[in-house]
Amino acid sequence: VFQLSVPLNFLGSVYRELRQSLLDMETLFNLQKVNVAIKEPAIPKPLQLRGGEIRIENVTFGYHPDRPILRNLSLTIPAGKKVAIVGPSGCGKSTILRLLFRFYDVQEGRILIDGQDIRDVSLKSLRSSIGVVPQDTPLFNNTIEHNIRYGNIEATPEEVKAAAQRARIHEIIESLPDGYNTMVGERGMMISGGEKQRLAVSRLILKDPPLLFFDEATSALDTHTEQSLLQNINSILKEKARTSVFVAHRLRTIFDSGTSDADGVGTDQIIVMKDGRVAERGTHDQLIEAGTLYSELWNAQAAMSTDEDDQEDELGEQ
Ligand code: ATP
Repeated sequence: VFQLSVPLNFLGSVYRELRQSLLDMETLFNLQKVNVAIKEPAIPKPLQLRGGEIRIENVTFGYHPDRPILRNLSLTIPAGKKVAIVGPSGCGKSTILRLLFRFYDVQEGRILIDGQDIRDVSLKSLRSSIGVVPQDTPLFNNTIEHNIRYGNIEATPEEVKAAAQRARIHEIIESLPDGYNTMVGERGMMISGGEKQRLAVSRLILKDPPLLFFDEATSALDTHTEQSLLQNINSILKEKARTSVFVAHRLRTIFDSGTSDADGVGTDQIIVMKDGRVAERGTHDQLIEAGTLYSELWNAQAAMSTDEDDQEDELGEQ
């Protein structure tokens, strides 16, 4: 029997979808900052998904109108493709995800999903179509199993386990004295940032939404665990042809997830942002060849990550 989690008790009997979209809002953004200006359309229609093409057209947006973060931004994420958004800190990568989720509305331009302006569809249908692995996932004061099952409360224990396996967390859970019944959250066991990220990925695998956003979703993992998790995420995305957007600081995240695919499908496009616009886009090889912003970022980070690797190897040998 599914127990209502403590933070949502006050809602009484609510629909699963409502809880799901609340959870997503809560995890991606701080609920305190919810923008009350976001309104349901007068005649809300459900979002009709046909592959999940995302089109951002001439979008200008700033949290304060006199300080635009995105400036006349246009980009298309083709249906079923995997796109990475990279760029200097503060250039507006996470802001794009917030706009797609309609946490804020654009000031100019429009955002279309499969040809429908997201302001014309019901918020519930929009948000329930999107799954997010955010930078930091809050956990419920409950068992690990409950926290994973939140992705889909009808999942069987076997499905929960299979999701945890794909998220590279199953073995860690099994090694705990109480296994899947271990209590986590504020009053439970402390778990690391990387374990939290993998729990969030398990949840997402169970939810299985048509559109997936990963916002620095593997930033707390060491490079080896990150790579094997990304391989698993990749194989799921490919199996189901899901549209996915990865925001990442570490360019190697994108590169590893792109090249570790056996058939080389990987990241279809890398979008490099600067000053609220698309500075360049292409595959890793094309962008390195071009020798401009991406390759500069890549070279700078490659030098740094070699040092990190050395440290990790040393730690691993101890
Ligand atoms: P990072 O790679 O460091 O996570 P980012 O490219 O994802 O950065 P955003 O989080 O999209 O950047 O933020 C873009 C800009 O908007 C930053 O200057 C940030 O300080 C500002 N910003 C973000 N959220 C808000 C907010 N709620 N209110 C006001 N300004 C904000």
